[in-house]
Amino acid sequence: MISLLPKPTTEERELCQKAKDFSDRFIRPTAVDDEKREHFRKSIFEGLAKLGLTAISLSQEWGGQGGSSRAHYSVLEELARASAAYSITVGVNQLVQGALAEFGTPEQKSRFLRPLAAGTYLGAFSLSESHSGSDASALKMSAKHTTGGYLLSGTKMWCSNGGLADLYLVMARTGGDGPKGISAFLVPKGTPGFRVGKKELKLGLQPSSLTELIFEDCFLPESQRLGTEGEGFRVALSQLDAGRIGIAATALGLGLEALQKVWTEGIKQCSFDFSEGVRGQFAEYFARLQAVKALLVLTAETKDQGARVTALASHCKLLASDLAMAITSSAVEAVGFQGIIPSFGLERLMRDAKALQIVEGTNQIQQLVLSRELDKMVSS
Ligand SMILES: Cc1cc2nc3c(=O)[nH]c(=O)nc-3n(C[C@H](O)[C@H](O)[C@H](O)COP(=O)(O)OP(=O)(O)OC[C@H]3O[C@@H](n4cnc5c(N)ncnc54)[C@H](O)[C@@H]3O)c2cc1C
Repeated sequence: MISLLPKPTTEERELCQKAKDFSDRFIRPTAVDDEKREHFRKSIFEGLAKLGLTAISLSQEWGGQGGSSRAHYSVLEELARASAAYSITVGVNQLVQGALAEFGTPEQKSRFLRPLAAGTYLGAFSLSESHSGSDASALKMSAKHTTGGYLLSGTKMWCSNGGLADLYLVMARTGGDGPKGISAFLVPKGTPGFRVGKKELKLGLQPSSLTELIFEDCFLPESQRLGTEGEGFRVALSQLDAGRIGIAATALGLGLEALQKVWTEGIKQCSFDFSEGVRGQFAEYFARLQAVKALLVLTAETKDQGARVTALASHCKLLASDLAMAITSSAVEAVGFQGIIPSFGLERLMRDAKALQIVEGTNQIQQLVLSRELDKMVSS
């Protein structure tokens, strides 16, 4: 089994072993079929929750494991080796936990965070709208004051876990233009006036749903606003770094899986000896995976020390998802016809990798974030 340094901590090793055993038993056997049928198995999420793998870095006070971010991201990497879709599901769920842990009232934490920690609730995070993906603070969905609460109206787009989730963290406009006019809301499924709209057909990550969310005069009491009024964009941004590191971990898992497949099954399937050129190309990919893993571990540890990791998270997301795309695409080519056969399991990795270059801020946006960091450095 090809693995990356640094050597895992005891916590990481134990949790990753649990994730691997679970994936081998319950995710891998149906991964190709689930992808074809766009089928998400809630039992898989619940099984991962029972093993304590869906709330690793949440504090024990609210039902989490109180573990490290490093362990959480290593588990996402391990899950992605079997199915990036489940890694994304667990990652998104963790963002909702993170926002509630940071901004929730004790009542909100008891009502929503505990079931999220236990895995009886699955969370979804909804910021994007049709005209405001990269430019998220331009969102238009309105939340108008009414007696005792708010009336939400509008349509959100591209919500991962849409239609599957029990709780949606939704950003809507309570004030004027710009980030300060945005507030965050907790919307349980089944709330009158809220429904899940069209499910998107997409290139990859098929078991993970991506849907519209439709709000028609949906009443929410004040007690379901997360944070203060106008603090919603801060709530969303508070989870952006965590989300980007999660995508990087998922991308690492995809890249490693493709490398492993080429180096073991791919070589066996080919009618000719793998040329030194191809071996060299994949050996270099291994070195690059190793470098990105080291960066990811540094980022996770820095995050746990409470330091700002915006630039590091962008580095990780940009490098890991571009690398996953390069490795999976070369892998498909390297094994010839087998590469495009779903049952061989490589082409799915390539399609999944493409989506990772877009989600949680496109890689062009990561370049923008990093350009601004460079500007700050030279002017300080
Ligand atoms: C698999 C997947 C899951 C997702 N899950 C969620 C979710 O759970 N919740 C949620 O809220 N959203 C989700 N999204 C939406 C995602 O956040 C947006 O797709 C993403 O932010 C890009 O926005 P956009 O699609 O509107 O592209 P656009 O913003 O329209 O960008 C189009 C192109 O223009 C470039 N561009 C835009 N602005 C700039 C700029 N200022 N400088 C340089 N280039 C720029 C982009 O890089 C891109 O190449 C998901 C997306 C995907 C693919």
